[in-house]
Amino acid sequence: MTESETKADPAFDIDPDETIDLLQRMVRIPSPYFEEHDLAEFVYEWLDDRNLDPEYHHVSEPEITEYEGDNVIARLEGSDPDAPTLLLNAHMDTVKLVEDWDEDPCSGRIEDGKLYGQGACDMKGGLAAVMKAFEALAERETDLRGDVLLTAVVDEEGPYGLGTDRLVRDGLTDDCDAAIVTEPGPVLAQEDLDNPALLLGARGRYLYDVTVKGKAAHGSQPHEGVSALVDAGRLAEALTEIEVGSHEKLGDGSVCPLMLNSGSQTLSVPERARLMVDRHVVIGESQEDVRRDAEAVVADLDLESEVEISFREAPVPGIEYGPYVTDEDHELVGALQVATRDVAGVEPAIGYFASVGDFNYLGDRADLPTVILGPDGENIHGAGEFVYADEVVEIAEIVTEAATELLS
Ligand SMILES: [Zn+2]
Repeated sequence: MTESETKADPAFDIDPDETIDLLQRMVRIPSPYFEEHDLAEFVYEWLDDRNLDPEYHHVSEPEITEYEGDNVIARLEGSDPDAPTLLLNAHMDTVKLVEDWDEDPCSGRIEDGKLYGQGACDMKGGLAAVMKAFEALAERETDLRGDVLLTAVVDEEGPYGLGTDRLVRDGLTDDCDAAIVTEPGPVLAQEDLDNPALLLGARGRYLYDVTVKGKAAHGSQPHEGVSALVDAGRLAEALTEIEVGSHEKLGDGSVCPLMLNSGSQTLSVPERARLMVDRHVVIGESQEDVRRDAEAVVADLDLESEVEISFREAPVPGIEYGPYVTDEDHELVGALQVATRDVAGVEPAIGYFASVGDFNYLGDRADLPTVILGPDGENIHGAGEFVYADEVVEIAEIVTEAATELLS
């Protein structure tokens, strides 16, 4: 065996120090949603410095949020136009910086293998992993038959997932055949799993408002009025008792009343109330089903108040988090299993994600077999958020090797 052949193990393409340095630099650039500009520029320049031909992909939402920003995308072209295209997706934004940190929330400090910072785990760790994987794949691009499309997106944590929504609506996912999203791994799974874990689906989610209109009266004579607050409370309770859908992989749907407002005066029966409800759904349940279920509860209670159900306003129709499940037998899952065995020496756990995110747009709207696989950490979205630095390197290696397996 020649020396160059002994170096061919793809796992060695990822330099751990460079990967952690990249992550640290990105954690030090604050990028709460709607304020990703500086990080987008960094990602663009990092790719450009390596001659990986990045492009800005503009994201504009003038109606509700007035947001203007840019995804950063890059493509490796494989040798065979008929071979599959693999999408690597990671979001650049974080939640708004939490005030509770007792250190700089963008320190990137490493202690005991934990790298701290807002967004370190969700999901700059995953972003660093796909960037390093993309670089490693580019270095042996000639070996790949299929394309790899890297998408570093904006506004995943914000109100509508505008970055990935724009990828889907502009047709960038049309020629893709499968997607890996490197969101934090088992920490956000439905059950306790060891990393590396492949999360093969997620429930969907709808948010709706129930507006209740009663009749005002003097607060000392409640029987003269109809309390919108009391009726909304009865509705909230009844909604939690409905029969929700169930799925063998995704588990049960759920209903969670989130907020009840009835801004009233100090001595009046509340005339109006607004109840906000979260409904998680499984495959087979649509927005119309969710509306029908709520209407059935309203009809059942036969309230004196008038009740109206409305879904959250969206910039365009079709922006919704639908549920999806990726087939365990899909070749992407197989490639990730092989890669995990090679890199980590273990069989990956299989699970399902607990909440919703951009992966719903890819798995449901774009209809791509989608796998979530990412580095783990803790305190996600909170103070003290950290990612396990060695898992970032490991995920980069697994993604590199799985892409090679799938596309060669
Ligand atoms: Zn995330």
